[in-house]
Amino acid sequence: MEKKAFVTRQLVEEIAKTYPTPFHIYDERGIRENARALKEAFSWNPGYKEFFAVKAAPNPFLMEILKEYGCGSDCSSYTELMLAGAVGMKGEDIMFSSNETPAEEYVLAAKLGATINLDDITHIDFLEKTLGYLPKTLSCRFNPGGYFAMGTDIMDNPGDAKYGFTKEQMFEGFRILKERGVERFGIHAFLASNTVSNEYYPELARQLFELAVELQRETGAKIAFVNLSGGIGIPYRPDQEPNDIRVIGEGVRKAFEEILTPAGMGDVAIYTELGRYMTGPFGHLVTKVIHEKHIHKEYVGVDACAVNLMRPAMYGAYHHITVLGKEDAPCDHTYDVVGSLCENNDKFAIDRALPKVEIGDYIAIHDTGAHGFSMGYNYNGKLKSAELLLKEDGSVELIRRAETPKDYFATFDGFEIYDRMFPECQDTVTGNRAEM
Ligand SMILES: *Cc1c(COP(=O)(O)O)cnc(C)c1O
Repeated sequence: MEKKAFVTRQLVEEIAKTYPTPFHIYDERGIRENARALKEAFSWNPGYKEFFAVKAAPNPFLMEILKEYGCGSDCSSYTELMLAGAVGMKGEDIMFSSNETPAEEYVLAAKLGATINLDDITHIDFLEKTLGYLPKTLSCRFNPGGYFAMGTDIMDNPGDAKYGFTKEQMFEGFRILKERGVERFGIHAFLASNTVSNEYYPELARQLFELAVELQRETGAKIAFVNLSGGIGIPYRPDQEPNDIRVIGEGVRKAFEEILTPAGMGDVAIYTELGRYMTGPFGHLVTKVIHEKHIHKEYVGVDACAVNLMRPAMYGAYHHITVLGKEDAPCDHTYDVVGSLCENNDKFAIDRALPKVEIGDYIAIHDTGAHGFSMGYNYNGKLKSAELLLKEDGSVELIRRAETPKDYFATFDGFEIYDRMFPECQDTVTGNRAEM
């Protein structure tokens, strides 16, 4: 499938007058259409709910858009819980799927009334000790071990993953929880990441539904929901066929009707915790070409770096690149597109065929709407960019300003860096990046 940017050079030139590059920009229309389609695909299940995985794009403005489509939040940390609470989510709107959880996070989750999804059997005692009670509803995360395969294709390796209960522990855990007064149970599993296949969710659902039937039969625990978690992927590469969410929803329905309905469990709610699928394709990192370098290879130097988008450096992930204004030019040049970190893995693309790039060109790096900005860090003292929202009416809203040096130094309590700078530099280091 051809990958087209949702911004043009003209629009970016206009935006850059107010908000200098680099910045992440999100496409409100795309986010809305996708959220609507997801909701429709699972509308056959009355209890269906998507809990947006906040870690993918922890921005309250984006969470509020998704909330309009009935999405709750899937949180896994203290600040993610705070964000969910701040956009008005509480109780059944919040899923708390964390691991190696600190006590204070369980306390906040319980205070918000979040549904807690336990990652380990030892957390039953830990949670009870922390709260002084066990919530009436609890979920347990399942890890079957081994490989997760579909046919002969190995999709992922749960046996090597730190998460979840073994099968035996699921049975033991449910028995213990039931004895201690838990009334509603959930099952959760995340067995393969970024699957670009309509078969993953139905296959996962089948495994979890079978487990649910066994668990309910053998322990008497009332299964209220099955949480299929994240893992529906997006086509980062142009040659990948995107998932069809309607086909996925129907596949899960088929498994539901074959396994749960005959077992008298037709009232089980389906939950999802999608992150990447919800916002990934609807974000671009926009950056400007500031250097060209011709040594043993051809380099294009841009004003963004791995701090703004870590996936290529961290996983060697492919992110498609559009040189704005040159969409129709032949890709007859080969470049490494690189940022300024003192790390040789700071490369957004390696040996990428692109049109001839010139200094001053704007580049859109695709599919940065999930696990993009949010994975950012501050290595080399680099600052995080702004986040912008391209609204349905074509206007652009700042939904997070860029960091300034002042933000970066804010945690040196008692060390007044601005006062200590040489007087002749004072007016240069305003702390306001936009003014520099
Ligand atoms: C990361 C994560 C998700 C979201 O995963 P995506 O690949 O973004 O869909 C959902 N649930 C849990 C527990 C996660 O850790």
